[in-house]
Amino acid sequence: MPAEPSTDAARPADAPAPNPARGAGNCASNHARSAAGAIPPEGFGEGRGGGSSFQEMWRELAPIGRDADTHGYRRHAWTPADADCRAWFRAQAESRGLGYEVDRNGNQWAWAGDPEAGDAVVTGSHLDSVPDGGAFDGPLGVVSSFAALDELRRRGAELTRPLAITNFGDEEGARFGLACVGSRLTAGQLTVEAAHRLRDADGVSLPQAMERAGYDPDAIGPDPERLARIGAFVELHVEQGRALDLSGDAVGIASAIWPHGRWRFDFAGEANHAGTTRLVDRRDPMLTYAETVLAARREAELAGAVATFGKISCEPNGVNAIPSMVRGWLDSRAADQSTLDTVVTAIERAARERAERDGVDLSVVRESFTPVVEFEHALRDEIAKILGGGIPVLGTGAGHDAGILSGSIPTAMLFVRNPTGVSHSPAEFAGEDDCVAGVLALADVLEGLACR
Ligand SMILES: [Zn+2]
Repeated sequence: MPAEPSTDAARPADAPAPNPARGAGNCASNHARSAAGAIPPEGFGEGRGGGSSFQEMWRELAPIGRDADTHGYRRHAWTPADADCRAWFRAQAESRGLGYEVDRNGNQWAWAGDPEAGDAVVTGSHLDSVPDGGAFDGPLGVVSSFAALDELRRRGAELTRPLAITNFGDEEGARFGLACVGSRLTAGQLTVEAAHRLRDADGVSLPQAMERAGYDPDAIGPDPERLARIGAFVELHVEQGRALDLSGDAVGIASAIWPHGRWRFDFAGEANHAGTTRLVDRRDPMLTYAETVLAARREAELAGAVATFGKISCEPNGVNAIPSMVRGWLDSRAADQSTLDTVVTAIERAARERAERDGVDLSVVRESFTPVVEFEHALRDEIAKILGGGIPVLGTGAGHDAGILSGSIPTAMLFVRNPTGVSHSPAEFAGEDDCVAGVLALADVLEGLACR
């Protein structure tokens, strides 16, 4: 059983609530958009519907897991920083009189209404981070969810469907190398056996880490009954690109998560002396690799896709040696499958042509692939109707819990403008007005879906 199975809102917290004084103290020096990762300024959202509770929550959460030197967040799954985030979530749930529970996979839930009634509307995101991550990726969705509920109460809206707020565990996969572990387990997209095999950099297994954090790892597994009680899941997230900045909109709706894959290119040449080998006699795989990187950029640009060689290894990796082997990993994503196929095929063709010129052998292996995730059209259209005409609908190249769950239940996403597009970095940012616009849009959506 999970360590915190209670749905009894009146039950006292068994985890310490974050110390508000700590939040306020640390926030005092971070009033503006700064290297500290964009802590909203004093007065953030005050006096505007949905904003006043946002600021207080943001301040409490801001110091948890933030590195003093980099100002980035290190809220990795099942660590003390993660436990502090979870205690914060529980305190938010209980202070609002919501029914609090932790599911068998360690995901947290805060319920308004009876979870057993079915057809629930669920919103939320995640509180964990990548190494030295930003303040907004994940927490913006969770904080906005609580603020949107506050806004619904301020409006006097009455729920006709159960409403829940979630914090999905280990979304970023920073510790065990696999993203969306909490939602994957719940949706049955990660087997218990595979989850048990996950290890962190210190060799600690996922079950060991969960146990040390006070959770029962024997409980993990698919949770179809829970999913069957959910009618819609809506995740608000900071945009991880600049589409909204370019279109001049504060909030948008997701159409789909782009298909994406990873390919390993092995360029095999011949090691030789960098000083004595004539240029014409060389079989230098670095040249082939370099041409392939340029081809990737060219082909992605032509197709409106993205392609990145972000990881490379070289043998023997000596300054005065022509390499015998260069390995490069290609990450490529596009709006649809056929565009992605076209781009990767063209990159491979360019690599092979150049390899022949260079006397290099090339092998290409697809190491992973995730097909396109189309968010449910009916839910998307309903949300677009609630938010009014003209709201932009955009695709994204990043994965999310909503993408995982979309295989099981109707899901949708709202994006909040990120003016620089920077994400997974302390420089990640969303402006205060845009965050409030996100809260109000989410409140409108929840009211439209759950309060009729
Ligand atoms: Zn995220």
